[in-house]
Amino acid sequence: MIISVASGKGGTGKTLISTSLARLWADGNKAVTYVDADAEEPNGHLFLKPDVIEEKRFTVKIPTLEGRTCAAHGKCQEICAFNAILSAKGSVIVFDELCHGCGACVLACPEGFLQETGREIGTITHGDSNGLEFYSATLDVGEARVTPLISGVVEASTENADGDRLVVIDAPPGTSCSAMAAVEIADLVLLVTEPTPFGEHDLILALEMGKALGRKMAAVINRSDIGGDGTRALLEARSIPVLAEIPFDRAVAESYAASRMPMEDSSEFASSIVKLAQGLLSLAQGVSP
Ligand code: SF4
Repeated sequence: MIISVASGKGGTGKTLISTSLARLWADGNKAVTYVDADAEEPNGHLFLKPDVIEEKRFTVKIPTLEGRTCAAHGKCQEICAFNAILSAKGSVIVFDELCHGCGACVLACPEGFLQETGREIGTITHGDSNGLEFYSATLDVGEARVTPLISGVVEASTENADGDRLVVIDAPPGTSCSAMAAVEIADLVLLVTEPTPFGEHDLILALEMGKALGRKMAAVINRSDIGGDGTRALLEARSIPVLAEIPFDRAVAESYAASRMPMEDSSEFASSIVKLAQGLLSLAQGVSP
């Protein structure tokens, strides 16, 4: 089962929840993979402290004429959905930052002149954290195209995952293409939210993303004792089950600041994670939590 842990905004506790779930299940002798897909600011490794097995540079394919002279049919320009290539007499201009490396322009060129060349945009790390399989993606500084890297780490981490393995994807915040790349493969999307007007506002966007992708969704309310009831009402109105509510806990904040697993320092937090984990497994089995 693949669970993506997502949120409409940053700072809701996505990494706290996803690393805790992965650790809990792995310590309970389940086969678990944790995937840090928040490639612009990955920090799951700070909590899980994996031993690195392999680091691989990740490349995307960019079209190039490789010294050929463009016949200016304009087919490449017409087919590109991202306005990333311009066809001019004798040449093409490729805007690397816009190119998604889909290869459509290469296929569309009637002369077959366009070829693909690789460009490195980041690194995928594979490791082990006491029996917990670990993956993370890190975007190169100054690089704009994060979505292909996120798709790459999701593919690498799930390609050999059998049916019994639990894959926990720590998705990037927001609802852009990069977040969708970490959510579209999930059997279940766990939305981490908080009961504040900001949380409620961004939760609406996250709910729309999950709905657009046709994903099954559940929610956990973090810092549940701070704020009002708008978030709960919204989730109830959309029939999204709330699997756990986690109140603010100073011990959790202190462990987080010291990059320790908060389950070690707060029994209340550990109980909430156990409840959340049970609710997720029940939902996955089609049982109401
Ligand atoms: S590879 Fe795809 S995104 Fe890039 S220029 Fe060609 S058509 Fe556009």
